[in-house]
Amino acid sequence: MLVENDYEVKKLTSLKVGGKVEKVIFPENLDEFAACLQEYPDAFVCGNLTNTLVSTDGYNGVLILTTKMTNFSIEGTRVQAECGLKGPKLSQSVAEKGLSGLEFMVAFPGTIGGEVFMNAGAHGQMIKDVFIKGQFFDREQNKITTLTKDEMDFSYRTSICQKRNLTVLSAEFELTEKPADEIKAKMKENLDFRHTHQPSLALPNCGSVFRNPEGNSSGRLLEQAGAKSFHIGGARVWENHANFIINDGRATSTDILELMLMMYNSVKEKSGITLMPEVRYLGNKNKKEEDICKILYQNSIKM
Ligand SMILES: Cc1cc2nc3c(=O)[nH]c(=O)nc-3n(C[C@H](O)[C@H](O)[C@H](O)COP(=O)(O)OP(=O)(O)OC[C@H]3O[C@@H](n4cnc5c(N)ncnc54)[C@H](O)[C@@H]3O)c2cc1C
Repeated sequence: MLVENDYEVKKLTSLKVGGKVEKVIFPENLDEFAACLQEYPDAFVCGNLTNTLVSTDGYNGVLILTTKMTNFSIEGTRVQAECGLKGPKLSQSVAEKGLSGLEFMVAFPGTIGGEVFMNAGAHGQMIKDVFIKGQFFDREQNKITTLTKDEMDFSYRTSICQKRNLTVLSAEFELTEKPADEIKAKMKENLDFRHTHQPSLALPNCGSVFRNPEGNSSGRLLEQAGAKSFHIGGARVWENHANFIINDGRATSTDILELMLMMYNSVKEKSGITLMPEVRYLGNKNKKEEDICKILYQNSIKM
């Protein structure tokens, strides 16, 4: 199992921000993963770091990255996938078999674990629609457990994993048979939409910065508040959609958080609505970051 000390994690994040992490572990199978979770009960677990802002001051702790655990199997309409498998890979594989339900996953680079944790979704589909059951490591009870969909407490961008200390090991999905051509056409439509409405990874970003408030759109609220012209240090709001932050290559985690606070305040002042961050934070906070996180994440369930 690969273990890196004082590892520069920045290159692995989609935002291209982050300092040195004391220890990064890459388990290669679920047994190794469970053993790591037992050995390091306080370790932070991440997948492909596409929804995580890592501190420029790094992290004095253990980070377990799941991206080497990528096995999956398809039996009839049932699909089982390990937590580190990337969504686009699974989406394309099931499409080849004429299985529908994961067309949304083609469009963004999260892992199955991150997607279950976040109840990820797009283009009218989400994890909740296809999830049947999953294997989890319960870090409070220190044991492996199985949870069914009814026990997952899924709602918009959240799941039981954000309330209890549950780590996703693998997940099982029930899909629907459909002609492969139709599925692929839907995937192409999703990708085409992305190309015009969202920044590609060539522009370092972490997807939507804020969750949509119920019945509203963060992008629209931010645009109305004038956020498209906001920038701080190496971080700027994307000119085509105000709910994305782009790192021009120089941004620090403080730049990103300061810009998030500016966006948050602008919407609060303009419309009285309190935005909640979708992006998660990991690492050592300086005083300024500590103060900003207290405001931005005051209503979040778990960081
Ligand atoms: C260009 C772009 C477009 C995006 N578009 C969308 C979109 O349309 N819809 C959407 O929902 N998201 C979108 N995202 C955000 C992101 O890809 C998803 O939230 C994805 O689910 C995160 O997966 P990850 O593996 O990268 O998670 P990470 O960033 O690695 O982790 C995110 C959170 O999940 C937790 N986590 C990760 N793995 C596990 C695990 N095995 N067990 C328990 N917790 C875990 C982490 O602790 C962290 O809190 C986009 C991101 C980018 C960069």
